[in-house]
Amino acid sequence: MTVAERATDGMVDVVVVGAGVVGCAIARRLAGDGARVVLVDRAGDVGAGTSKANTAILHTGFDTVPGSLESQLVARGHELLSAYAAEAGIAVDRTGALLVAWDDEQEAALPGLAAKAEANGYTEAVLVDAAEVRRREPHLGPAARAGLLVPGEWAIDPWSVSLAFATEAVAAGAGLRLDTPVTGVVPGGDGLEVCTPDAVIRTRWLVNAAGLGADLVDRMLGRDDFTVVPRRGQLLVFDKAARRLLTHILLPVPTERSKGVLVSPTTWGNVLLGPTAEDLEDRTDTATTADGTADLLAAGRRILPLLVDEEVTAAYAGLRAATGRRDYCIRSHPDLHYVTVGGIRSTGLTASPAIAEHVAGLLAEAGAQWSGDPVATAVPSMPPLGESQLRPMRDPVRIAADPEYGRALCHCEQVSRGEVRDACAAPLPPGGLEGLRRRTRAMNGRCQGFYCGAEVVALLVELTGADPAALTAVPR
Ligand SMILES: Cc1cc2nc3c(=O)[nH]c(=O)nc-3n(C[C@H](O)[C@H](O)[C@H](O)COP(=O)(O)OP(=O)(O)OC[C@H]3O[C@@H](n4cnc5c(N)ncnc54)[C@H](O)[C@@H]3O)c2cc1C
Repeated sequence: MTVAERATDGMVDVVVVGAGVVGCAIARRLAGDGARVVLVDRAGDVGAGTSKANTAILHTGFDTVPGSLESQLVARGHELLSAYAAEAGIAVDRTGALLVAWDDEQEAALPGLAAKAEANGYTEAVLVDAAEVRRREPHLGPAARAGLLVPGEWAIDPWSVSLAFATEAVAAGAGLRLDTPVTGVVPGGDGLEVCTPDAVIRTRWLVNAAGLGADLVDRMLGRDDFTVVPRRGQLLVFDKAARRLLTHILLPVPTERSKGVLVSPTTWGNVLLGPTAEDLEDRTDTATTADGTADLLAAGRRILPLLVDEEVTAAYAGLRAATGRRDYCIRSHPDLHYVTVGGIRSTGLTASPAIAEHVAGLLAEAGAQWSGDPVATAVPSMPPLGESQLRPMRDPVRIAADPEYGRALCHCEQVSRGEVRDACAAPLPPGGLEGLRRRTRAMNGRCQGFYCGAEVVALLVELTGADPAALTAVPR
């Protein structure tokens, strides 16, 4: 039983299904408002679904559908998340984006995209000619014609966002149940019963933020509003040596189906190329494929020819929760004491705090009242994972105060034993190597754990008593 459940004699105010970035943001917001919240996820960590595998861009919403809920929430999310990241110490690199036209048709589309940005309330987009494009990005391929500069598109550390939201939610009294799949929901009395293999959680309200599983949870309540079609996005991660090749996030002209293949700096100093857009049936298929890699390299060769000669350190794939609709599927069902947050496809990292604000408003409109008073929690201070931040191994003052920050564990990413120790002592410690990677960057570099993996495992075992056999390295 969690703190939140004890406080209400077994009946909580809200169960949030899904501890991705959206569910964590909602749990944080509602717990802060005074709700007794339980956040439930079938995975063993927060942010372990789509939220861990995206292109990590803090979007402005310049290219969303004007007038849509997504347009509104991405713009608001940009404002909220950039302020939150600054407070929590989450890395944001204000690179700006350059959207590049590669042929006549795309060049002709640029003024329309600039007008669309205006219609979305984004007024800082600027059309630039070929000479300016070349001046800003001299390594672009020869076919680059003209561009649209979008200064507010930034790179963000995606992993720390879910973790910070969840940490704050727990500090505000929310219960967190990991490794807990929701298998059924039964309306009962003045609320609902949420069934899991180990327990039934009684709640007054239910928020469904189950990402790729949101339509399946919807069906548990007799709803049939949308169907999730997983749209896979494969990405290649280039070594830090490639970072010199670009200044901005390099965007393509978007299509109806996706934002297209981009090249982007990451906050940890690498370069991303991707994502693909492949509709699948299997909601778990995050495999990367030879065809996907070939397509990405072909696109990369055209965008930034020198990039494809650089070393690839990793490849990964994320699944967008596409629904065939062009907007988010966020619906309130006051009669069922239920809000569903579906179809958060390509912009959910950015929009997450604004989605939480919107959901809090829907619940208030539906008549929800919380059993506690608002809780003032401090924004957690997240470890500085970004290359632009002062990382512990480069901080002589910190090392002098605590020599463990000077003892290198992962040499590629310059992660110290002190940082791993801190991650294991944090309110939401990692459950394994993958969680540790997201909290510290250990094993995330050029060797991908080949050299440091054994030492990382040994330290994790020493600090947590984990079973070494269970700590087998898993791909991201
Ligand atoms: C390739 C790619 C690139 C992207 N790039 C960007 C970007 O640059 N910027 C941006 O803002 N957004 C981006 N996105 C979108 C963003 O990543 C998503 O919108 C966001 O992560 C969705 O978060 P979520 O919490 O809704 O889903 P998830 O992170 O998938 O979380 C849902 C959770 O629900 C859990 N769950 C499901 N069913 C159940 C159940 N029955 N019981 C218990 N738990 C359950 C899952 O385990 C999961 O942890 C990108 C997405 C992809 C795939």
